[in-house]
Amino acid sequence: MASSPDVIVIGAGVLGLCTAAELGARGHAVTVVDPGGPNASAVAAGMLAPAMESLLENLPPERAALLKRARDLWPAVAEMHGLKLHRDGADWRGPDPVDALERLRALGFDAQPEDGGLTLPDDWRIEVGQSLTALARAPGVSVVRGKVVRLSGEGRRWRVEAGDGRVWFSSTVVLASGAEPAIEGLPDGVSAIVSSILPIRGQLTAVATAAPHRVIRAPNVYVAPGEGGVVIGATMEPGRRDLEPDVAESARQVAAGLALLGATGEAGPIRVGVRGATADGLPLAGPSGEPGLHLALAPRRNGWLMGPLVAQVVADGIEGRAPLADAAALDPLRFA
Ligand SMILES: Cc1cc2nc3c(=O)[nH]c(=O)nc-3n(C[C@H](O)[C@H](O)[C@H](O)COP(=O)(O)OP(=O)(O)OC[C@H]3O[C@@H](n4cnc5c(N)ncnc54)[C@H](O)[C@@H]3O)c2cc1C
Repeated sequence: MASSPDVIVIGAGVLGLCTAAELGARGHAVTVVDPGGPNASAVAAGMLAPAMESLLENLPPERAALLKRARDLWPAVAEMHGLKLHRDGADWRGPDPVDALERLRALGFDAQPEDGGLTLPDDWRIEVGQSLTALARAPGVSVVRGKVVRLSGEGRRWRVEAGDGRVWFSSTVVLASGAEPAIEGLPDGVSAIVSSILPIRGQLTAVATAAPHRVIRAPNVYVAPGEGGVVIGATMEPGRRDLEPDVAESARQVAAGLALLGATGEAGPIRVGVRGATADGLPLAGPSGEPGLHLALAPRRNGWLMGPLVAQVVADGIEGRAPLADAAALDPLRFA
């Protein structure tokens, strides 16, 4: 039997690692179990985009405000863990900027007309690769390689079994396994919650070209600064979990992105990830209904934006603290 930590987090994506880092900062000894390899969090463009998401998804004001509060948690997290956070805003290059400006302002976002489009100072960006590495090294956190094949209650503890036969026990487990199907051994109620998560495949393409100062978005395409140039994305393909790159779709996206930039560039690797989503588009964060088992799942296409909020809500649930006002909107049992 491997040594037994205070809290076990299953999954080292942004939700698992933000939660582990938050718990580590609160003095817990946390072990994160993950098989390694790319996940949705590593594929993502890293946009923290409450304004653009609210505009594109036509969100109501209370949801827009929640996204903005989630973003507001980032500066402290970035400072604590040395993450590269860019607060340069983002550019919108869609049709009808006057309408977009009015809608954004009505939702409480700043927006400035610029070059026939808009600049949105409320949208920021985080460097995903550097952030995942730094969060995995947060105080109190250790990451071990392994795929959990069975998670079951045993007395007052949870038994966490890896594919290679290692077993951990802990009274507190956080399930942050992304869009993966339910792990064997879970109680029926939790298994049903996990099984209700809709996988949404997404792909983007790295392109070697001069990076713009900040993210540029238009309907159906964005260009974000990335390693060696930019990333151009991204698709939303509900119901798909396969990771096979779609070369024709990538070519279409790259052409649209380069047209937006007014530049040429050389397409590099196509990156594919699968996001998990709930029926209302918000994550599942907090107690699962089973003592000691907590969820940090299904942030749809805003996993980076929502990471620190999910982490706080889950950590508060574990410690039995009074929940944040936003915790109710993320309650894993809200669909029951
Ligand atoms: C192309 C694309 C672009 C995106 N751009 C953005 C963006 O700009 N901004 C933004 O906010 N969001 C963006 N997203 C969404 C964001 O990436 C996701 O919402 C987020 O990464 C989900 O994080 P997660 O931790 O839930 O899941 P994941 O990142 O998928 O992590 C889950 C982890 O759990 C592990 N795991 C699964 N099962 C087990 C098991 N049985 N045992 C152990 N470990 C297990 C997996 O290996 C994985 O590492 C994008 C997504 C895609 C695909």
